[in-house]
Amino acid sequence: MITLRDIQKTFIPPAGPFTALHEVNLDIAAGSFVAIVGESGSGKSTLLNVLAGVERPTGGTIHIADVALHSLTERELTRWRGSAAGIVFQFFQLMPTLTAAENVMLAMDFVGRWAPRERRERAEGLLRRLGVVAQANKLPLTLSGGQQQRVAIARALANGPSLLLADEPTGNLDSRTSDGIFELFAALAQEGETVVMATHAAAAGKFATRTIALADGRVVLS
Ligand code: ADP
Ligand code: MG
Repeated sequence: MITLRDIQKTFIPPAGPFTALHEVNLDIAAGSFVAIVGESGSGKSTLLNVLAGVERPTGGTIHIADVALHSLTERELTRWRGSAAGIVFQFFQLMPTLTAAENVMLAMDFVGRWAPRERRERAEGLLRRLGVVAQANKLPLTLSGGQQQRVAIARALANGPSLLLADEPTGNLDSRTSDGIFELFAALAQEGETVVMATHAAAAGKFATRTIALADGRVVLS
């Protein structure tokens, strides 16, 4: 489903060019749950951002379900990302003034794939699937960290993407809660979702179907 060929990403900050990804070649099958591991600074977030179409590679080609991301315009990339990729972050990044259900509905409002009157029911369905429907009408700050992350995952799934990307999604959670999130990703992958997650948590390897290790911007294990 995902094919990366000779992907390179060079940043050009004032201090001088820095290559964060070198000749990355990967094939990731649909329905896999991939853990990307590696030390801080090894390029995990950069790789996820390339997969999300947030960062454009400076070399190489990337195809996701037959879409050639490297050749899309900025505008086409934004439209692609809205419905094809869902992104989950370490610090959840929920809107604090909106309830859990409203956070999920807001993501649908941006893309417009579902009619306005269908959005609440769909949001509640996603929250139910993620085990937090009882929290639907609560504000994020009244929820536990694990519950907030489940709401953030529901939001990432709001527009029915086939690719779910997560950058250190359990970096702010205790190990028991983290295992619950990893189990959830494994279950989503079994249902056909492709999940790619950057993580420091050693326990992730027990749940992922595949581990890819990066060191200094190169794939050292896949
Ligand atoms: P990780 O997520 O594994 O900690 P990152 O992908 O965030 O690693 O970063 C990889 C390397 O690229 C780091 O050395 C980082 O400083 C550098 N880097 C990341 N983003 C930028 C940027 N926008 N400009 C310059 N350097 C960057
Ligand atoms: Mg990172």
